[in-house]
Amino acid sequence: PQIITNLKPILGASGVKGKKVTTLSSQVTISDFIQTIIKDSPTEIDSPFSVIDLRVLINLMNKWTTNLPTVKPFYAVKCNPNISIIGALAALGTNFDCASRAEIESVLSLGVSPDRIIYANPCKPESHIKYAASVGVNVTTFDSVGEVEKIKKWHPECEMILRIKPEEESGARSSLGLKYGALLNEVPELLKAAHMAGLKVTGVSFHIGSGGADSQAYHGAILLAKNVFETASRLGMPKMKVLDIGGGFTSGSKFDEASLHINDAIKSYFRNDEDLVVIGEPGRYFAETTCTLATKIIGKRVRGELKEYWIDDGIYGTLNNIVFDYAIVKCTTLRFGSKPENVTYKDSKTYPSTVFGPTCDSVDTVLKEYPLPELEVDDWLVFPNMGAYTTSSGTNFNGYSSSAKHIYLACSSSVVREQIMF
Ligand code: PLP
Repeated sequence: PQIITNLKPILGASGVKGKKVTTLSSQVTISDFIQTIIKDSPTEIDSPFSVIDLRVLINLMNKWTTNLPTVKPFYAVKCNPNISIIGALAALGTNFDCASRAEIESVLSLGVSPDRIIYANPCKPESHIKYAASVGVNVTTFDSVGEVEKIKKWHPECEMILRIKPEEESGARSSLGLKYGALLNEVPELLKAAHMAGLKVTGVSFHIGSGGADSQAYHGAILLAKNVFETASRLGMPKMKVLDIGGGFTSGSKFDEASLHINDAIKSYFRNDEDLVVIGEPGRYFAETTCTLATKIIGKRVRGELKEYWIDDGIYGTLNNIVFDYAIVKCTTLRFGSKPENVTYKDSKTYPSTVFGPTCDSVDTVLKEYPLPELEVDDWLVFPNMGAYTTSSGTNFNGYSSSAKHIYLACSSSVVREQIMF
């Protein structure tokens, strides 16, 4: 297996598709880097902008390989379709979960082979299915008889993965079971329909829900998948081989917990299944902590103790995760407008502050009663952990760009402690 310790030699100085990669030592924080970008720019820097820290991606990939060595990651592109993130993950050896024609096109444009893609959307437009067939994306998910008919018509060689609905609620912020996944009593009929249509049903998938899901839910869902494998055998269908455990992962200690449940369940329920291929579809796990958003304060109003600020990104832009992903965001400050050289966030008095986005809608409120030192126009707010379900779901409301446009890539040459194997 190839060992990767630093992405820069692979991506080149121009990163992916012309995005410059800056090498940082592991001591330099992203906040320091952002400060340098703003300070050293010869002209006024465009705001808002995002920084992608490739050091984080390398470490997350290494952690995945260590914790879940038997689970192949298929990055869920929908979570953050930024081409540099996809390119870096391709270099690190992940595969991809695409939900539409455009997502497939974007992954293929990097030279990734179509057999590294699963088209993991249980209900697809016919034109997108035709496209998948034409480029050789040959694995998809389904949970309805209607989808079986579409695949039979437009892509009969496609392998079918039956998406099931996990039985227990995992407490995730986004419960995908409300929309997708066959119920247990629907499984035999769906398996038969696909089999009768001459399609190859090769496995089972599920998603326990995205964001803060209880890791124990993987255990129950893997047992349910095992039951579906057995149902298929009872129906006389060819042996299934793919167990797709979906997404729902977060980085940090919760990932360790999830890994224990997953490894334990696979060992318990698929002990003698030597041909089993286990795949996962992590989105948030890779994207969330990799991106940091920098926004500039463009307006201020003082009402006694209450300080109100306007920034140039908001609920209709990158910070739409507050609405769609139920995210609770936090920020730190960079003081360029007020420029008190020796004042830091820690030693200044804070005030309960409101931070508005730039559009004319009052819904466009990012923070309320948030403790901030008194800031001035041209100071900056820096939001960490802004990579998941942010740039992918913004709008152009009021003519503002849907998401932070200027992306800076940071990469470390000193990540030699970690080794990536694939
Ligand atoms: N796989 C599928 C089919 C999904 O719908 C999603 C998210 O909506 C994901 C994977 C990624 O989930 P997460 O970001 O929680 O890992």
